[in-house]
Amino acid sequence: MDVTYYVTSIGLVRHAKAHVSAVDCPTNDSLLDRPDFRKLFKQIYDSSGPTLPFTQRREYGGWLYLNPTTDTLIYKPWPTNGASPCSINPAPYDTTISPAWLVAAPHSHPVDSGTVVPPAVCPQAPLGGIVGRGPSNPDDNLAQSQLLPVYAVDSKTIYRTTGPGLHTEWPRVSACTIF
Ligand SMILES: [Zn+2]
Repeated sequence: MDVTYYVTSIGLVRHAKAHVSAVDCPTNDSLLDRPDFRKLFKQIYDSSGPTLPFTQRREYGGWLYLNPTTDTLIYKPWPTNGASPCSINPAPYDTTISPAWLVAAPHSHPVDSGTVVPPAVCPQAPLGGIVGRGPSNPDDNLAQSQLLPVYAVDSKTIYRTTGPGLHTEWPRVSACTIF
């Protein structure tokens, strides 16, 4: 629970914002334990077509901002026209929002690890290959260069990286379901 105090013309007013976790399957991750983030992240994943034929899937993702005054998430998706089933290019920051409000870069991995990639589908595997587990090297590099946690999700796992080797992951479904 956060308690903030505002000094007003009529004196001290206490304003309490409850941050008591009420989610199933708490992760102790401040974003992942927000119901609004879980809902958004599921929408991002579902939008990427994980049940479509492999070549029709596209990674979806974007910049996530948090308005600290209203405690509201603001999601600015990256363009998907340059995306592939296993890549997406981050857009520049949204200049209408304070960069201080940036909190994460969530994106989907609509192709599970172990999937055999045919040639000429994924730019990082022009001759084809096998999809590895998340997060990818580009995910690590994005997190490191932007000083921002990068979240990825595939059908079974949610990944968080803040740089190479700095990974946390959670099963989407265990004894409980994150989303
Ligand atoms: Zn990724």
